Amino acid sequence: SQNILEVKDLKVSFSTYVGEVQAVRGVSFHLKKGEVLAIVGESGCGKSVTAQTIMRLIPSPPSVIKGGSILFDGKTEITKVSNRQMEKIRGSEMGMIFQDPMTSLNPTMTVGKQITEGLIKHQGLKKEEADKRALEILKLVGISNPEGRMVQYPHEFSGGMRQRVMIAIALACRPKLLIADEPTTALDVTIQAQIIDLMKELSEKTEASIIVITHDLGVVAEMAQRVIVMYAGKVVEQGTVDELFYDPKHPYTWGLLRSIPRLDQEKESDLVPIPGTPPDLFAPPKGCAFAARCPYAMKACVEVDPEHTTLSETHSAACWLLHPDAPKVERPVEVGG
Ligand code: SF4
Ligand code: MG
Repeated sequence: SQNILEVKDLKVSFSTYVGEVQAVRGVSFHLKKGEVLAIVGESGCGKSVTAQTIMRLIPSPPSVIKGGSILFDGKTEITKVSNRQMEKIRGSEMGMIFQDPMTSLNPTMTVGKQITEGLIKHQGLKKEEADKRALEILKLVGISNPEGRMVQYPHEFSGGMRQRVMIAIALACRPKLLIADEPTTALDVTIQAQIIDLMKELSEKTEASIIVITHDLGVVAEMAQRVIVMYAGKVVEQGTVDELFYDPKHPYTWGLLRSIPRLDQEKESDLVPIPGTPPDLFAPPKGCAFAARCPYAMKACVEVDPEHTTLSETHSAACWLLHPDAPKVERPVEVGG
């Protein structure tokens, strides 16, 4: 298979004491080998839940995979493998980079040990081999004096260096799939740019396919080849970076493009927030989930959820405005090309 990942109609819910939250409501996408795919959307849109479900990092219960499939590397059905097998896959074929390295690094263990642990446990490397790999990987992520750094603890590193360590841990097992969830959000702007450069470089140097979850369109523009826009647990638009930035079709994408700060844009004064809030996913609306916030909403929008319209081989969007009989609307002038 050309695809490292094929997600089809994935549905994930959370049971809570007041009812069931439908966090992911039928998400489909694929990731090609060697590709960098960005998932964007407001918080609560289901992007992190989707990623964590792919890695089976959310405990079940409370999370329940309600349907769909996640095919990894053309052969492993992630929704069906045992926890034990999944642990092995996570230690050898998938890696994850989180927003805040402090919460995912072990403060009581040296950085060297944290990098080599998984190599020894899941890949059967001898300590010397694992140490050698750790030194290589620390160099690869731009940490100088790797020998000295190996024996240090996370608190002895700066925020940016800790993020590099976390990337090193994720890459040490030479994963086929790397998922980075808001990898730069907790860092200051200069360090953010350095980490993005690093990840971009790594995506070219290593074989790993990458999913980057972000709300920063600068990160998308710098790193990704394709983008998925999620809203209220669904994919509302997907396309190449150029299609999404220069020819976006979904009103929610228009809103996002106008509302999100970008690393490569100086002025924040031109930002226009999207009014309103996303719908309650305890009881999602039956029509388009964006209807309550959409300036173009029509009668059909509230009644029937639109299917995706294919716009090119790579571009599709789910909006009634794309129906041949829909009124023609102009997208906001400041959006697109
Ligand atoms: Fe707006 Fe209707 Fe399109 Fe939804 S389907 S985004 S409500 S125009
Ligand atoms: Mg998140």
